[in-house]
Amino acid sequence: MLMSRLHIPTLKDAPKEAEIPSHILLTRGGYIRKEAAGIYSYLPLAVRVLHKISRIVREELDRAGAQEVLLPTIQPSELWAESGRWEQYGPELLRVSDRKNNDFCYAPTAEEVITALVRRDVKSWRQLPVNLYQVGTKFRDEIRPRAGLMRGREFIMKDGYSFDVDDEAAGKSYDAMFDAYHRIFERCGLAFRPVEADTGAIGGSRSHEFQVLAETGEDSIVSCKSCNYTANVEKAEIARAHANPELAAQGEAELTLVDTPGQKRVEDVAAFLKVKKKKIMKSLLFDSDKGPVLALIRGDYELNDLKLKAVVGASELTLNEGKGDWEHGFIGPINTPGSVTIVADDSVRNLADFVCGANAADKHYTGVNLGRDVALTETHDLRVAKNKDRCGRCQGTFQFFRGIEVGHVFFLGTKYSKAMKCTYLDQEGSDREMVMGCYGIGVSRIMAAAIEQNHDKWGMQWPVPLAPYEALVLPLNNDDEAVVETGKRLYRELQDAGIEVVLDDRDIRPGGKFKDGDLVGFPYQLVIGSRGLQGGGMVEIKDRKTNEKLSVPVAEAVEKLVGLVIAGRQGGQTGG
Ligand code: ATP
Ligand code: MG
Repeated sequence: MLMSRLHIPTLKDAPKEAEIPSHILLTRGGYIRKEAAGIYSYLPLAVRVLHKISRIVREELDRAGAQEVLLPTIQPSELWAESGRWEQYGPELLRVSDRKNNDFCYAPTAEEVITALVRRDVKSWRQLPVNLYQVGTKFRDEIRPRAGLMRGREFIMKDGYSFDVDDEAAGKSYDAMFDAYHRIFERCGLAFRPVEADTGAIGGSRSHEFQVLAETGEDSIVSCKSCNYTANVEKAEIARAHANPELAAQGEAELTLVDTPGQKRVEDVAAFLKVKKKKIMKSLLFDSDKGPVLALIRGDYELNDLKLKAVVGASELTLNEGKGDWEHGFIGPINTPGSVTIVADDSVRNLADFVCGANAADKHYTGVNLGRDVALTETHDLRVAKNKDRCGRCQGTFQFFRGIEVGHVFFLGTKYSKAMKCTYLDQEGSDREMVMGCYGIGVSRIMAAAIEQNHDKWGMQWPVPLAPYEALVLPLNNDDEAVVETGKRLYRELQDAGIEVVLDDRDIRPGGKFKDGDLVGFPYQLVIGSRGLQGGGMVEIKDRKTNEKLSVPVAEAVEKLVGLVIAGRQGGQTGG
């Protein structure tokens, strides 16, 4: 391809709203253009990258025994009503109606449609397992679309679904998908980690997110230095503290009611009473389908709602913002109405002579002690893992990372097959629900994540397997016929060798060519200049990843470059 013909509308400046490198560079590099909040057009370079990602995804899934289908993006509400999600999904689901006033939604995912499809045609154990996937456009009306392709409203996703006869067989399907995902991200050339993730209402341990490691990631990941247990902080199991098994009073101070006018937040109370945050017991009131819940945690920790939900056995949990009889900010565990379930985090076990809300406006207690003043019989792991917390599996030390979730494998069990009656006849002739798994990959998000992990101040540094083109031939002096002719010849030879190569044939200054080459992120640049050609017939190969330049004789340039590209195509970054 000739640079003069390529539609790459590069921009000097990034749009104001772009904050993270991938958003800035994809826009400046002429890959994407925004049409509305969270809705983008993909230009030719972006489409090439998307195709490369999808190709790797398809090859690995096919190899693992999955088969590609293409499901409708406009889905009938009836199916969503069957699963209960027409009611549950909320405003993220884009609902539309047709001219006859039938309700539909634009697919955010496809569990309902695929379950309906499989139940229609699969009747017998002989037809199982079935593993189907598709690659296509999804729409989720995200509250805060952000960071370009990272969290779009319209985005491209691979979604796959497996159907098996029982838990054991479904576990095998899950493991096969887990392994395929490993190979996919390795082949993409990304540094990533599979991490244990929350399983929500479904429970169990079979949910893994694949996280691309990057500073700008939304997700926080912990990994144990000793046993390698890696999990999203939402889920990470923390070593339990049992230093105070009886939960008895550890201090002797007198329980005292004090005025704390307007001091609601832990920070404010700490400053007002001149105590450390870790001397305060934070009390948070939630409404849930199991009734009101009061969660207690040491003031310097953050409560993890997902863990609380699991301990309480609630499926709905919302923070009570101080409505009704409660004076938010002054809530506490002393004189709490009997209708409230009190649940405490392990971190409160060793509190002595502490501070907590007094269940009265503008009042706190000081000198509070467990047992004597607050009756607790047990505590739980309810907090978000933090610096000094130790691994729940082996007591080892945690390391913290930031990550971008690019894939998710999830054991669904019979959630959908039960609700939608997706059953088969087993060998004994009885009707049984199929056991399902679902598997997503954010194809367009991978494009952004790859850049978050691979860029410098000049532009993108694509891993070879994802780069829109593998090499750029860059003749510097347009007025030197030898340079121009050598450029054309090497370009043809690289094409013949099967390299995806662009020739910068534009009549512009070398500086402009270098700048665009670096911004767009061609993994290798073959630079041809008058001086090199005259001084011994030398050209330069620049590796965009390291920005190192290698001087090679013209005659060896093609072979050398082909070798580098072919090695790069293997990808090969590993998940730790
Ligand atoms: P998140 O927690 O980021 O909202 P999710 O749990 O809603 O993700 P899934 O439903 O598991 O995501 O979707 C599968 C994959 O699709 C995710 O792993 C992610 O890579 C991608 N994805 C999800 N939402 C978006 C989005 N708004 N924009 C781009 N990619 C997305
Ligand atoms: Mg989401």
